[in-house]
Amino acid sequence: MTIRQDHCPVCDGRDVAELIRRERLPVMQNVVWPTRAEALAAPCAPFALGVCASCGFAFNRRFDPALMVYDPRYDNDVPSAVFTDYYRSIGRDLGARHDLTRAPVYDVGCGKGTFLDVLCATVPGTRGVGVDPSCAPREADADRPVALLREMFRAELVSERPSLLVCRHVIEHIARPVEFVRAVVEGIRRDPEVPLFFEVPDLDWIIDHEAFWDFCYEHCNYFTRASFVHALERGGVAVTSSKTAFGEQYQWAEGAARTTGEAPAPAGVAEFVERVTRYASDEQRRIASAREKLRAAGETGPCVLWGMATKGVVFANLVDPDGTLLAGGVDVNARKQGCFIPGSGHGIHAPEWLTTLGDREVTVLVMNANYTDEIRARCAALGVPARFEIP
Ligand SMILES: [Zn+2]
Repeated sequence: MTIRQDHCPVCDGRDVAELIRRERLPVMQNVVWPTRAEALAAPCAPFALGVCASCGFAFNRRFDPALMVYDPRYDNDVPSAVFTDYYRSIGRDLGARHDLTRAPVYDVGCGKGTFLDVLCATVPGTRGVGVDPSCAPREADADRPVALLREMFRAELVSERPSLLVCRHVIEHIARPVEFVRAVVEGIRRDPEVPLFFEVPDLDWIIDHEAFWDFCYEHCNYFTRASFVHALERGGVAVTSSKTAFGEQYQWAEGAARTTGEAPAPAGVAEFVERVTRYASDEQRRIASAREKLRAAGETGPCVLWGMATKGVVFANLVDPDGTLLAGGVDVNARKQGCFIPGSGHGIHAPEWLTTLGDREVTVLVMNANYTDEIRARCAALGVPARFEIP
């Protein structure tokens, strides 16, 4: 059965332009495999980005939620000082504006609980409750005041009035985002003044930077600042502020449960559809040019990717699907090292692996520019002759 959703999951509009296509992408880019054979056989599926002409919402029309399995194998941890600093900066920002110490902070889709751990360490006196089907459940204790529940979110799990409810990098994974936001808001229906904090990747950044590797199967939804606010408002959130974050790759929106009024209509939709159309018309040339650059760099020495999470996995699958141009990838997540990425089957290695590649200069493709300094410093400390490129 071919899935091709013709109407917009946010506004139900029927005028959906299909602008970006992939024949196959790994279904779960944050699940890695112990052998190359298993990685090559990992589930893949087609992707087709539809953009709604009525509200500007962008989504994978071919998304099949039945293929998604969020279990403990799912691992999107980035044990990097840059990333921890980013978490701390969110914590300081939230802690300065809200009293987080009088009740627990709930984190819907908390992953392994890392954000709550950092938040509670950054804002002393804070407690946390995280909900995620992929977490290792645990009780809070004096050393670590964060309880984790291995569950799909439902409103009844919010058993205590929160000081804040956080939902980071979740609604881009959910086929029915408005309904999901409604369920989150339902969790605080008795306390409509509880502040809500949402974070997702920013589609404006992806288009502006022609970052073709940022369209992935796990993310069935793509939000601009305008369409993010619009979807949250439809889900019953009165959005009070929104801004970009993490080098403008992410966006935040804050608000509270809306008790009156209608969601405002989104603005600038026609211009946005036009922008994505322009981007899409040049995308294949951009992918071919990235491949050509890799081929040329390969003449002088080995080429590797640094960062085998979403960006690295999708980039490798699009630019080097046969695994002939890249020697492999580096990732600082030790659980991923020694494993293979789904689809193209490239190996994932610890940074030390770079010292085994010979004397020639290594081309390191830095998959996220936010980590460039950290990666340069690590290669220098290892004595690896390297040049760094940001695709
Ligand atoms: Zn729409």
